[in-house]
Amino acid sequence: MMTEELFREDSYLKGCNATVIAVADGAVILDRTVFYPMGGGQPGDTGSISWSGGSAAVIDTRYDKDGAICHIVDEGASVPAVGDEVHATLDWERRYKHMRMHTAMHLLGSVLRYGVTGGNISAAKSRLDFDMEDSVDKDAVGAALAALVAADHAVSCRWITDAELDAQPELVRTMSVQPPRGKGKIRLLEIEGVDLQPCGGTHLCSTAEVGHVRIGKVEKKGKRNRRVNIHLDD
Ligand SMILES: [Zn+2]
Repeated sequence: MMTEELFREDSYLKGCNATVIAVADGAVILDRTVFYPMGGGQPGDTGSISWSGGSAAVIDTRYDKDGAICHIVDEGASVPAVGDEVHATLDWERRYKHMRMHTAMHLLGSVLRYGVTGGNISAAKSRLDFDMEDSVDKDAVGAALAALVAADHAVSCRWITDAELDAQPELVRTMSVQPPRGKGKIRLLEIEGVDLQPCGGTHLCSTAEVGHVRIGKVEKKGKRNRRVNIHLDD
């Protein structure tokens, strides 16, 4: 059951019309969607689905075990029927914060050039875990981040096939994270002049949109692990 993933090509879409292709256990599956399913450290989207005669709040979006994108609705909520035309609307304010945070995380990873061992994004606070023993100079990192935001670097994504990647080993060398192989194609996220890595998340189109970002607590989570928290200041 394949859903067309509109958010991959245009992360700024706030809603879409779609047809219900399955309904099961508090989950609605559509033929196309703007809702991002939880993955890559980014939470699933929330919002609502409305149809002729009803509407339901979407409290989360997840892939099921077969890879279908499930719009999860509240227990007991009314749901549309298979074949119904619906309109899906994102909680855009929340998602846009995820986009700002996600792009900020790529910038943070380009400032602190250590291996990344974990991460998590939320609208209020995000974190990256670095494989490092050095201490983190919060002021210097904060200033470097602010400079990257102010420089208004273009952000774009493109698909590349495994074969194209094999033909350009220099591309892999320039990536900050090694690409996963074996799926046939890989989505690359490029922040012009700053970062290139495989990523499936939703992003801004320019670093300027990240806005005011502040380095929060730096936690020591073991000898070789520094957890850096960041916040959006607005
Ligand atoms: Zn990303």
